Amino acid sequence: MSIIDTLTGEFARLPGVGRKTALRLTYHLLKQPAEQTKRLADALVALRERVRACDRCRNLTEMPLCALCADPRRDATIICVVEEAADIASIERAGEFRGLYHVLGGRLSPLDGVGPDDLAIEPLLARIGPEAVREVILATNPSLEGEAPTEHVIEPAELTRAFD
Ligand SMILES: [Zn+2]
Repeated sequence: MSIIDTLTGEFARLPGVGRKTALRLTYHLLKQPAEQTKRLADALVALRERVRACDRCRNLTEMPLCALCADPRRDATIICVVEEAADIASIERAGEFRGLYHVLGGRLSPLDGVGPDDLAIEPLLARIGPEAVREVILATNPSLEGEAPTEHVIEPAELTRAFD
């Protein structure tokens, strides 16, 4: 297989990229200056080497704590629970939420065999007591992907009971 076929095949595996677009991207890169393609390649490698889960909320970060957890101006008594780290970016764009987050790392879906043990629920429960959390907002999306998350506010004690 040629390197053109290999790269086109890799692009085509990305979400929303069909075979035609993949081929166009490959040919586009060949027309760019070599150093620009090198920057893209370096960024891809660095992405996987440096990005990790925040020790506290599991948001994506390059530090032990993400920028939100490390920000003393955020209200640590409110935790907004989201399914994926990407959901944080869309809530932050709205600019109204001042609390902290917790990333579950997936959707609770008993039918697909995804139970509480597969998601970061244990670390969430572990935060509730010591961090003096007074409100948990479940911003999970039960229906379509890409739709704005539905918000559901619950008492921390209610959450603890639900998973005990
Ligand atoms: Zn964090």
